[in-house]
Amino acid sequence: MERYDTIVVGLGGMGSAAAFHVAQRGRRVVGLEQFTLAHDRGSSHGRSRVTRQAYFENPAYVPLLGRANELWTQLQRYSGMRLIEITGGLMLGPPDGGVVKGNLASARTHGLPHEVLEAPEVRRRFPAFSIEDTKIGVLDKVAGVLFPEDCIRAHAAAATRAGAELRWQEPVVSWKATGDSVEVKTTQGTYVAGNLVLCAGPWMGELLAGLSVPLVVERNVLYWFRPTTDVVMFSPDKFPVFIIEYEPGKVFYGFPALGDDGVKVARHHTGISCSPTDIKREVNQNEIREARWILERNLPTVNGDLLSATTCMYTNTPDGHFIIDWHPRHPNVILASPCSGHGFKFASVIGEVLADLACDGQTKHPIDMFRLGRFKHA
Ligand SMILES: Cc1cc2nc3c(=O)[nH]c(=O)nc-3n(C[C@H](O)[C@H](O)[C@H](O)COP(=O)(O)OP(=O)(O)OC[C@H]3O[C@@H](n4cnc5c(N)ncnc54)[C@H](O)[C@@H]3O)c2cc1C
Repeated sequence: MERYDTIVVGLGGMGSAAAFHVAQRGRRVVGLEQFTLAHDRGSSHGRSRVTRQAYFENPAYVPLLGRANELWTQLQRYSGMRLIEITGGLMLGPPDGGVVKGNLASARTHGLPHEVLEAPEVRRRFPAFSIEDTKIGVLDKVAGVLFPEDCIRAHAAAATRAGAELRWQEPVVSWKATGDSVEVKTTQGTYVAGNLVLCAGPWMGELLAGLSVPLVVERNVLYWFRPTTDVVMFSPDKFPVFIIEYEPGKVFYGFPALGDDGVKVARHHTGISCSPTDIKREVNQNEIREARWILERNLPTVNGDLLSATTCMYTNTPDGHFIIDWHPRHPNVILASPCSGHGFKFASVIGEVLADLACDGQTKHPIDMFRLGRFKHA
């Protein structure tokens, strides 16, 4: 039986990047994916993802974000595909709310280019927003949009060119680690390697049965609306990506109009728990009404015809930070669950981190805050 250096399970946002970075270092890598390339059943579909630098979740992410953007830009150049577009990012909310306060903390700690805008200035420069005078805006000058399906296609193509063997529609049914080897069984065969990188997104819990990793899968809905005014007002050169803390702790976000898609908007973290097998894919009228209610109060001219809606899964940890670590019982198995609803923008640098761990056993990137040991029973 052929022996690989590394097996990557899951070729979504993180796995496609990991396979590329491992292969680029001249290692023998096989990537195993249960579905097709850039499919719409996991966490990485929906045509756009926000990327930003002034990170309200924690300033500690900022160095990773700088490297992530460098790598996305390199991959864009190498692939010839449009992967990233800088539009600026408008973060709105009460001055003492998590979004604005967190953004400013990151921007000031790391000296990132930003502007603070009072509500009348937000309304003047971005007339689509009808925010109250109690809110302010922070404009992150280096935020923008990533095109997730093409990011995955570009990583997969670059991985293949670098010598990786990527196998699609081949679900992994079990894995075991013994001494210096791992053995992975799929519906079609058995693979052996020196180490294993698990990047299974919402299916991570299933592949880690027996290990108490506190992951909860959450269903979220994405909506595309046709604005009631001239769509040009929402073109990427006039309308940035945005995040609004519209009520304390409640967050809504969206994108400029990209192509013929209308304006995409979504709520962050208000979905119900689900599993990848029982997720309800249809979007109900109540959900659409709730989205319209938020639009009417904050972005009334976006509240036109609903063009489409789809569901997607977050894989949440209790503190909202990622898991990137060695398996506590198997020193040649690496776990990567960088989600909690904000991981895509990091996929490029996480691919590099996972290759560091798989090839060198260590990384210079700051990943201590993603260790499993922070959870009591891991
Ligand atoms: C609605 C929504 C909006 C989001 N918005 C943003 C945003 O604006 N900005 C941002 O940075 N992040 C955002 N995120 C988060 C981001 O998209 C995720 O963090 C990221 O996509 C996770 O990538 P992943 O590789 O872990 O998971 P996935 O891309 O889902 O990949 C996991 C892969 O593993 C495969 N797999 C699982 N089990 C097996 C098995 N047994 N055998 C073989 N293959 C298997 C799956 O089929 C899948 O392809 C959003 C997420 C959602 C759902």
